[in-house]
Amino acid sequence: MYTYWDKSAETIPEEELKRRQLAGFQAAVDQALKTPFYRERLRKAGITSGADVGSLTSVQDIPFTSKDDLRDAYPYGMLAVPLEEVVRLHASSGTTGTPTVIYQSAEDIGVWPDLAARSIAATGAAKKDVFQNMMTYGLFTGGLGLHYGAERLGCLVIPAGSGNTKRQFKLMKDFRTTMVHATPSYLLHLHSKMNEEGVRIEDLSLKKAFVGAEPHSENIRKKIENLLRVDVYNSYGLSEMNGPGVAFECECKDGMHVWEDAFLLEVIDPDTLKAVPDGEEGELVFTTLRRKATPLLRYRTRDLSRIYPGPCSCGRTHRRIERIKGRTDDMLIINGVNVFPSQIEEVIMKMPEIGNNYQILVEKAGALDRITVKTEVGPAIFSDDARDMNHLRERIKDNLKASISISPAVELHEPGVLPVYEGKAKRVFDVRAGE
Ligand code: ADP
Ligand code: ZN
Repeated sequence: MYTYWDKSAETIPEEELKRRQLAGFQAAVDQALKTPFYRERLRKAGITSGADVGSLTSVQDIPFTSKDDLRDAYPYGMLAVPLEEVVRLHASSGTTGTPTVIYQSAEDIGVWPDLAARSIAATGAAKKDVFQNMMTYGLFTGGLGLHYGAERLGCLVIPAGSGNTKRQFKLMKDFRTTMVHATPSYLLHLHSKMNEEGVRIEDLSLKKAFVGAEPHSENIRKKIENLLRVDVYNSYGLSEMNGPGVAFECECKDGMHVWEDAFLLEVIDPDTLKAVPDGEEGELVFTTLRRKATPLLRYRTRDLSRIYPGPCSCGRTHRRIERIKGRTDDMLIINGVNVFPSQIEEVIMKMPEIGNNYQILVEKAGALDRITVKTEVGPAIFSDDARDMNHLRERIKDNLKASISISPAVELHEPGVLPVYEGKAKRVFDVRAGE
């Protein structure tokens, strides 16, 4: 039996969903026309009213919006309501530069928790659950986003925030936390501290973990599931589309349902900017269908994914996307070979000897690029026997060569040596530029 938060919206027939999307899209264009930025942009494209977009396919007549546009329009260029109607603002983490700002009106701030409640209910979460939110609270949307969603669902919410593992364990034990929300890297870090803190899995009541905010592979999910004995669900969101609650895995754990009544989804080829056929990999592009204060039309996320064909067994009609491969700008070109950090992660995290943390260093070595994969190994594996360690290093190299054609140097480290991040992990250090 699958559980729903808003069954009629989540299982809405396709035709009706499309009708709703078109109405939302036209309203978004009308709303966008109230902002200085879009008025100018849309006028150039010959659009002066929502009625000018007659069908969902005419989304393609509208210019894209980029992160730089949001930066250029800072602070108020994309605000579509009078400032006194705004009740909150959030900003992106600034992973790739100056943060961007999104405003929420009272009405907007009511929609978001609904989408977040829908998301976590799709994992089987219910009112009786105790939800410990280990994401950073503040301008970053990861904290408040699922916080209000879980409250709306009726869960007991513990706003723990990120960091302070000792306190996290205490809260988890004292209040019998059943669900947590964190970055995948933080959960692995938490696990590596269990021994030191004298915590056993049996002391905890954990059932589910929602992980997001950073790319991670299927093998990282499996690792967290095995180590913490929980069901791990992938949560995708970005501050430009509110934050968490854009796409979420259901109990089937087979791709993330995008809430298509709130976000119009396109997948484009990042080079040609044309739509890719369904099922092919491309950059996700979203249009807000329900946000009044900061409507965004065709926002280019730079996140790479694909649409899963066919319906999901849970009965939700909203289409699913594959886990995010990374951002277009995460791609590394190593001596001519294109590789995403997530592909390296997928290979190394399949090996049981590998510990909970890793890093990738890319440097110039003469005319060539040199890549070093640094990984922690489990305490039982780390030994003084140079032969054993050499053997493991060679196997890691062979696996990377065989699956993604790169030949890195490999460094093995004791657990706890590589840096830990409370927010989004920084795994890749590309120091080639400027040399
Ligand atoms: P920033 O863009 O500065 O990192 P955000 O806090 O808005 O700021 O982060 C949103 C981004 O985080 C997404 O565009 C995506 O790149 C990444 N992200 C969020 N959730 C996931 C996820 N589940 N898997 C992979 N990447 C994710
Ligand atoms: Zn489903």
